[in-house]
Amino acid sequence: MRILLTNDDGIHAPGLLALKNVLAGTAAVDVVAPIAEQSAVGHSITLHRPLRVIEIERDGDFIGYGVNGAPADCVKLALAELLKERPDMVVSGINLGANVGVNVLYSGTVAAAVEGAMVGIPSLAASIEIGDRPQFDAAARIVGDLIRRLPLAELDQHVILNVNVPAVLPSEIKGIRVTRQSTRPPEEAFDRRTDPRGGGYYWITADFDGLAEEDGTDFNALRDGYVSITPMHFDMTCHALLPRLSKWNVGGDLA
Ligand code: MN
Repeated sequence: MRILLTNDDGIHAPGLLALKNVLAGTAAVDVVAPIAEQSAVGHSITLHRPLRVIEIERDGDFIGYGVNGAPADCVKLALAELLKERPDMVVSGINLGANVGVNVLYSGTVAAAVEGAMVGIPSLAASIEIGDRPQFDAAARIVGDLIRRLPLAELDQHVILNVNVPAVLPSEIKGIRVTRQSTRPPEEAFDRRTDPRGGGYYWITADFDGLAEEDGTDFNALRDGYVSITPMHFDMTCHALLPRLSKWNVGGDLA
């Protein structure tokens, strides 16, 4: 089994290295990841400057290829140019910070997994909820175990598994819940501050309180101490509306 491993926290992030160590026990792991942190860049790609690739080592060990771009750039470049063989799986993470609810739409971690699913490679995004001391090694073991046990070959090839690990001690994790994505937005606000020259600037803030109340959701599973697995797809078509809207189909000249 060959795995392409990437992330959005950058190639030096502890979550990526923890996952690489675990996955290397059962798979050939190729790392292609952003050189610098790219959190919340979503599915952006680089169009207006060249992409450069550098080989990254740590303590004399080759870690992988660092790219001065976004997570989606990394997967595209890996598949098209850098890897000698097509991977059996694309894995993105482990991200520091849960990717649940509408946050998924901003996530570079999830976007990288979507890139894999777009070309029919089973893909998984993994994140850990922010806590006092993120347990990357334990989370990596959980994700590695899932990858070994899940019947990935049976999944629709264009599905992404979005895995989130709660911020509790490994011994306190209650199990796994298959969930749906919460679609409720957080309470957002902008904190307006003043710079040293008297100009105003803004920090976005978001309050996620209350979102975990909705049963069956990713937020809910994390709140209850479960690992959340949400199957996702990138087809944004509203299939339920297609039959009704198809009445709008018209032929001929609309001008
Ligand atoms: Mn991140």
